[in-house]
Order: sequence, then C-alpha cells, then structure tokens
Amino acid sequence: MSNTTPAKPAVKKSSGLVNKTLHFLVHNGFAFTVSVMCLVHSILLAIFLFAGVMPLVQINAFSVLVYIFAFFLCKFGYIRAVYFSIILEVTFYTIISTYYVGLRCGTYCFLFSIVPIIIYFGAFLYKGAKRWSIVLMLALNFLTFIALYIRYAPIEPVYDLPPVTRLVLVCVSAFAMVFSTIFYNTIYIYTTEREMGDLEKRNQQLSSDAHEDALTNLLNRRGFLPLVQEMMDDHTQDFCIAFCDLDNFKRVNDTYGHEGGDEVLKHVTNLIRKELPGCAICRWGGEEFVILMRGYNMITAKEKMEDLRKHIESNPTIFFNKRIPITSTIGLEEYKAVFNEPEEIIKVADARMYYGKQHGRNILIFEDLD
Ligand code: GH3
Ligand code: MG
Ligand code: MG
Repeated sequence: MSNTTPAKPAVKKSSGLVNKTLHFLVHNGFAFTVSVMCLVHSILLAIFLFAGVMPLVQINAFSVLVYIFAFFLCKFGYIRAVYFSIILEVTFYTIISTYYVGLRCGTYCFLFSIVPIIIYFGAFLYKGAKRWSIVLMLALNFLTFIALYIRYAPIEPVYDLPPVTRLVLVCVSAFAMVFSTIFYNTIYIYTTEREMGDLEKRNQQLSSDAHEDALTNLLNRRGFLPLVQEMMDDHTQDFCIAFCDLDNFKRVNDTYGHEGGDEVLKHVTNLIRKELPGCAICRWGGEEFVILMRGYNMITAKEKMEDLRKHIESNPTIFFNKRIPITSTIGLEEYKAVFNEPEEIIKVADARMYYGKQHGRNILIFEDLD
C-alpha cells in the first residue's frame, strides 16, 4: 500500500507543473517570444563575433536592443507594436544576413520561424474580415523567401564562412524554426483544450441548472417528469407518487423570516433524502415536494410515507439556536394503467394532499375519501 501511494501525487504534481507553465506562457506569450528572440540574437552575435562577420555582429546587437525595448512594450501592453516589431525585425534580419553570409547558412529559416507567430498572435489581434491581414503577411513572408532565393542563390555571399560555422548557423536557425512551430502549436492546443473543458463544465452547469432547484438541489419539474414518464413506459416495476406539502409554511416565513423558511426547506429536503434513498425527489413548488417511489406498491409506500410524516414532525429545524417545528400533509397514489400522463397520477396525489389540508393537516391520505 505504502509503496504505491507516492506515485500518484508525483504524476499529478508534474502534470500540474506542465499546466501551470503552459498557463503562464499563454498569458505571457509576447514577453516570452521577445525574450527567446533576444536570446537567439545574443547567440548569433557570439557566433558572428567568433566568425569575424562584424556587420552582422552590429546587426545582432541592434536586434538584441530591439527585443529589450519590445519586452518593455509588452509590459506596457503595446502588443500590436511588438507584433510588427517581431515581423519586421525578422524579415530585415533575414535579408541582411542572407546578403552577408548567403543562403547556405540557412538564416532564411528565421523567416519560416515567424509563420506560427504571425498566425498565433495575429488570430488574437485580428478578428473577422481583418484576418485577411494575416494572410497578406504570410504571403509577403513567402514572397520574401522567393525573392531572397532568386537574388542570392546565383551569387557568392560577402563572407564565405567555413563549413563548421555554416553548420552551426543552420542548426541555430533550423532550431528556431522547429521550436517556434512546436511551441505555438502546443500553446494553441492547450488554450483550445482549456476552453473546451470550460465550455463543457459550463454546459453541465447549465444543464443541471435547467433540471435542478437552486435552493435544495432537488429536481425541478423539467428534471422530474421524464423520470415518471420512464417508469410509466417501463411496466416492469410498481411505483407510487407522493405529494408532500409543508403545513402553515407561510407562518414560518412570517415568524422567522425568509431565511428561516429556506432553512426549513433545506432541512426537510435532507430528511426526505435520508428517509427515501433511491427515490427521485422533486421540488414541485414553494414548499411542495413530489416523490417518485420506484419499486413501491401502496402497502409499502404507505408505511414509508407515514414514517416520513412522523420524521418531519419530530425533527424540527434548528435555526440560530431556535427550533422551528414543521409538519407535512401527504397525498399518495399508486400507479395504475389508467394513467396516461405523469401529471395525471401527480394530480390524484395532489388532490389527496389537498383533502388532508382540509381535514386537519399533518396527515397521510392514500385513498379518495369524498
Ligand atoms: P398550507 O398548510 O395550507 O399549505 O399553508 P402554507 O402557509 O404552507 O401555504 P401557502 O400556499 O399559503 O404559503 C406557502 C408559502 O411558501 C408562501 C411563500 O411565501 C412561501 N415560499 C414559497 N417559496 C419559498 C421559498 O423558496 N423560500 C421561502 N422561505 N418561502 C417560500
Ligand atoms: Mg403548505
Ligand atoms: Mg403549497
């Protein structure tokens, strides 16, 4: 037992950490992107310094400054400016670096690394018809690559770097491209799945709101009637319907306030739930409960309802150290084939309850007496 238990929290902890990290990245996407850009340009600066390509050392130093500035723009919420800074910087950087070190160094991969950025952040910034600007930017990105290829493929670059340096540059730029594709797709999937999860939860909430009463969490009519209909269609089980109305409930409200009344309703709900496990219970109206007693015939249901009536009578609600006594009047009817609709059997139980009201209250009526 003790060997297996620690494994579970560890898995949960690590998935919790992944979720927290992704959550952080989704909410700090721009700041994270410019930080990575800054890091990549610092690495390139070092490589070009090592290779002696001084113009690109200066350009990379400039790019680092651009991203430091962009980081502060993110903090102050100028995300559109950051978005265009990234696109323009990467485009110009690609053109200039290709001019100096040629296509063989693979720096054109930086152009492709911003494709997911254009789409992912563009989708946040542009809505509806404005999304055509994303398509336009992607087209320009592609045309820039074609133009670079046409212009620089046939000619020698200004600096002909040794193969090892070229390989390092290809690795850095290809890594930037692959990382960008994986990263933005991951946070897109994470965001979508989170939203789907939230939507599902909200749907479940809405559906239970539509079928349940907010005060007692009992079924309302919409949730209850189909269950009665199911039993009527089933024909394999006996069932009874009880209509239970609290006596002089208005007086409770008048004496203890609406809050006191609410407390009584919740208390009686618990009493019914405990007394009748497995039965479907509906809050039919204000202080009226209708109970579907599956598997009960009139004999067993009578006993159970009499127990419930006594139980309610002998278990007052405690409200701010005060005891609020309450009684109930119950009408009971057993299902017979003559009933075609759930409302018909409930109506008979209601009529019997009403008879009980007129004949002293705090009583169970299970047959037509007048
Ligand atoms: P009877 O014995 O004839 O059933 O009398 P009664 O006072 O129980 O019945 P009546 O229909 O006169 O009053 C029902 C009261 O229930 C009136 C209404 O203000 C109260 N009520 C309805 N819904 C709620 C609720 O959600 N909370 C509270 N506290 N009171 C409610
Ligand atoms: Mg009442
Ligand atoms: Mg009533």
